[in-house]
Amino acid sequence: MRRKLAAGNWKMNGLDENLQEIKTLSEVSNAHDCEVLICPPATLIHSMSRMSNDIAIGGQTCHANTSGAHTGDISAQMLADSGATYVILGHSERRADYNETDADVRAKTKTAWDAGLKVIVCIGESLGEREACNTIDIIGGQLSASVPDNATGENLVIAYEPVWAIGTGLTPTLDQIGEVHDFIRAQLERRFGAGVGRSVRILYGGSMNPKNAADIAQVSNVDGGLVGGASLKAADFSQIITALG
Ligand code: PEP
Repeated sequence: MRRKLAAGNWKMNGLDENLQEIKTLSEVSNAHDCEVLICPPATLIHSMSRMSNDIAIGGQTCHANTSGAHTGDISAQMLADSGATYVILGHSERRADYNETDADVRAKTKTAWDAGLKVIVCIGESLGEREACNTIDIIGGQLSASVPDNATGENLVIAYEPVWAIGTGLTPTLDQIGEVHDFIRAQLERRFGAGVGRSVRILYGGSMNPKNAADIAQVSNVDGGLVGGASLKAADFSQIITALG
């Protein structure tokens, strides 16, 4: 049985004054079996990780190298040292803003695993790719090229995030979500074997909110959500955690 995961991606949002959201989330998290993760900006990881034992904290990216002359970057070891236990890699905004490729995501994932972090690898098709009926090909290619060997149910989470659904208020139909999640599950089982393939959690991400979370949570092979905008306020994210159960 895979434990559901409610992961909040705060992106470039959040100041010291927003740390109070964690107190509320901590109470909600206590009342549910769902694992709760917040990925704040790097500046808040240390403080946040000391506020609650009930909520996991993660980074939003890391460098593929362990240290060195990379001004402005952050290493996986630094994230872990600050109290993070997860890192999101390959988010479509990183792929678009910094030209991150599948090969980059794969290299970063290896480094993050070496630092003891669990990795959420993001994959997803653009609107043009969906309209051209290429979704499954794109997802299959990203999945095999972004995820290194040695994946386990402990160190890897996949987030299916259609690029056109992120921050737009648009979502695929439940059938479309199910089709992609079932495909990802089958690919994981084929590559890593049934044991590992069935234990890796697959999150849906893209305009998940308190209204649609319960329906999405019922879809086959949806093991939780990666949530952007609706994770910023504890009042909204709490409802998603409750919906995921
Ligand atoms: C995201 O950025 O990962 C995301 C899913 O954003 P939103 O929930 O705002 O669409």
